[in-house]
Amino acid sequence: KSFDELNLSDALQRSLALNGFHKPSKIQERALPLLMKNPASNFIGQSQSGTGKTAAFTLNMLTRIDLTNPSPQCLVLAPTRELARQIASVAKMLGMFMEADGLTIGEAIPNPANRGKPVNGQIIVGTPGTVMDVMKRRQLDTRSIKVLTLDEADNMLDIGGMGDQCQRVKQQLSKNAQIVLFSATFPDQVLNFANTFAPKSNQITL
Ligand code: AMP
Repeated sequence: KSFDELNLSDALQRSLALNGFHKPSKIQERALPLLMKNPASNFIGQSQSGTGKTAAFTLNMLTRIDLTNPSPQCLVLAPTRELARQIASVAKMLGMFMEADGLTIGEAIPNPANRGKPVNGQIIVGTPGTVMDVMKRRQLDTRSIKVLTLDEADNMLDIGGMGDQCQRVKQQLSKNAQIVLFSATFPDQVLNFANTFAPKSNQITL
């Protein structure tokens, strides 16, 4: 299987090639057709870091963005600010040829310098506490958000209260939003969380 069989835009195929992504990894090959299907379905993936899951959920989001609408449309929650930054940089890398057409990517991570400022970007990557906070303060327009992605869900459940914060963030979104969840492991607690958070999901285990 190759990336051209996945119906990706020219802009995405060019950035994949330029960055040395010549063929999909196993998780990408199996997850992308399910993630990108229309109408969108929820998705739960089991995948360790290093398998290419970041590009998988990022390509799904980049494919779903309406570049004529500058509002936030895809939201990613990650357990640490470092991981959130890494995801944002992958999104910028894979979206590089969409920038001229208006693609914007923003971060919502703890930063006192940003207090009170609106959070902008068609893709927003953040930590659950900060995203919840900016939503409460009405600094993040949730009305056009159609994809919510959780990365390293197992690690978020390990860190005090992040599971609840993810739930609160989800409550602010449209009922129709696609929920995408990746986790490296699925002990019972994570499995229960995943299945209530992303009901009726397509599921992939590597
Ligand atoms: P991740 O599992 O998202 O942390 O990705 C692991 C590493 O694999 C990253 O350095 C990516 O740049 C790289 N990578 C992801 N997908 C591909 C691909 N299809 N071809 C080559 N490298 C890839």
